[in-house]
Amino acid sequence: MSNHKEHKRELLGRTRRIVVKLGSSVLTTPGGVSQEQVGRISAELCNLAQRGFQVVVVTSGARAAGLARLGLSRIPKNIPEQQAAAAIGQIRLMALYERCFADFDRHVGQVLLTADDLRNRTRYLNAQHTFEHLLRHGVVPIVNENDSVAVEELKFGDNDRLSALVAGLVGADLLVILTDVEGLYAGDPRTGNVPLVELVEDLDGHIGRGVVVHVVAPLDRHGQAGHAQLRTRQDGADGSRVQDRSPDVGAGIDTADDHRG
Ligand code: GLU
Repeated sequence: MSNHKEHKRELLGRTRRIVVKLGSSVLTTPGGVSQEQVGRISAELCNLAQRGFQVVVVTSGARAAGLARLGLSRIPKNIPEQQAAAAIGQIRLMALYERCFADFDRHVGQVLLTADDLRNRTRYLNAQHTFEHLLRHGVVPIVNENDSVAVEELKFGDNDRLSALVAGLVGADLLVILTDVEGLYAGDPRTGNVPLVELVEDLDGHIGRGVVVHVVAPLDRHGQAGHAQLRTRQDGADGSRVQDRSPDVGAGIDTADDHRG
């Protein structure tokens, strides 16, 4: 497509339901989960919700939030220790989200999932109904892996993958992965001058129906569900921007005020 920016603008213009994945790099400092960062991002998410977007958050940070209570300064290697940290940290993390969203009169609901849940049709459908009801009530679902029960071989692996599965589950129009990486690279960017891929229009027919994927990685795991994906970098000292204002995306989400109910 010659005018891919226009295509992206059009795509973002009809976006109504968004899954936003917040990685540990965005939420944590060496001291644990940053209240300031969670507060700043929550304010942006509430602003999106206020404007009529339906927002689902996939968050990391449960283990990081539980470390201090266990007297640890870094994520342990041992899985039961990690699960204990997550059990402690998940409620702290949710309490923080609840406080931050309450500042904008917005409620949140916690959804904890395991890979097993999404393989089981009944549980998959039940989860789907839960999301629908939460969204219908204007509540922002906040999702994480159910770390304290998931066993190693059943784990999603990372929340990027979980966010892609959740985007499929809720029928999201857009998945935003907020991270410290610029986007999809044609190779490993640490190995030298590897170009950044700005637009992937067609994944050899995997996506079909002309859906545009903007900067998504890795494609084989995340490109299947048919939603557009936007991988946007954290804006350093200025905080993370969920509403991408980069020239590449154009006015993007900010212009999307027509097609929401
Ligand atoms: N579920 C993990 C946590 O909350 C995060 C996994 C990930 O970051 O990919 O600590």
